[in-house]
Amino acid sequence: MHKVLANDGISQAGIDALEKEGFEVKITRVAQEQLENYINQNGINVLLVRSATQVRKPLIDACPTLQLIGRGGVGMDNIDVDYAKSKGIHVINTPASSSQSVAELVFAHLLSGVRFLHKANRDMPLEGDSSFKQLKKSYAKGTELKGKTLGIIGFGRIGQATAQMALGMGMRVLFHDHHHEEVDLKLDFYDGQAVSFKLKGAKMEELLKESDFISIHVPAQKNGYVLGHTEFGMMKPGAGIVNASRGGIIDEVALTEALDTDKLAFAGLDVFESEPKPEIKILMHPKISLSPHIGASTQEAQDKIGLELATQTIALLK
Ligand code: NAD
Repeated sequence: MHKVLANDGISQAGIDALEKEGFEVKITRVAQEQLENYINQNGINVLLVRSATQVRKPLIDACPTLQLIGRGGVGMDNIDVDYAKSKGIHVINTPASSSQSVAELVFAHLLSGVRFLHKANRDMPLEGDSSFKQLKKSYAKGTELKGKTLGIIGFGRIGQATAQMALGMGMRVLFHDHHHEEVDLKLDFYDGQAVSFKLKGAKMEELLKESDFISIHVPAQKNGYVLGHTEFGMMKPGAGIVNASRGGIIDEVALTEALDTDKLAFAGLDVFESEPKPEIKILMHPKISLSPHIGASTQEAQDKIGLELATQTIALLK
């Protein structure tokens, strides 16, 4: 019987699927320094993690029973993937499961930005009773998303899910991607109707100049920031920007400058350069809508992630 340790948790749907196929699943949270002992004492074959547990070379070397390492989520920065594979260990992740949830969080930040909810939620508890009319006036100049242009940088799974939501809301979509020049997007509606869009990729410069809002969905980069001083300088005055991809994709110093000089109207950030200790200047900035890296943290995404891990594990080991 295969033994599974889901060290950073796994959805009940994932546990059920594994147990149904005869896998024994342990959901104990074992501390990093105890992991080697635990895996060896319990003869664990499958180690499932999210982003917290580190699976590095020494652990891989010390645990000969391991046959599969699974990451619930996308980025595998916490796993020595190539080394594990060189030892004949399967390494899997769940790239498809979280796209819709991340796309919806992007819209939470966009809608927050255009209606000042991030500010109103800070001000109302303190002044909502004494200065209601002033606050009403301060936040009166909202804008609609419908009819505006959303520029999407990185047009993979999440970029495309974000585009589908934008199109559904009546926005124009521009995208820029190194690997996609033209993309067919199908929007499925609840009653079985569907509408197809053929979108052509734009040059980065065109996207920066024409977008009212920009959302970025690229993986961690080797060559520094994707958006910094130069790019912010090219954007429409008063534009808004959302980053729910990875910290370090946007230059946060350049971003705060662009917000302070009113070049940009607002930013929505789910990820941070110095995660898990974001810069105070970012946390305190009145024009930034904030969330603590919760893009994939919905019931639905977690269910799908657990199931996707279970399905792949069963297919590889049974
Ligand atoms: P994906 O691999 O499906 O798509 C990424 C796309 O970006 C690819 O099409 C690639 O060609 C393109 N790309 C790469 N570098 C580029 C660049 N410099 N300029 C333009 N295009 C570029 O990835 P995905 O599943 O859509 O995930 C996107 C990002 O979202 C990743 O960074 C992932 O780690 C992150 N993510 C965040 C959360 C969260 O909780 N906020 C959850 C899941 C994923």
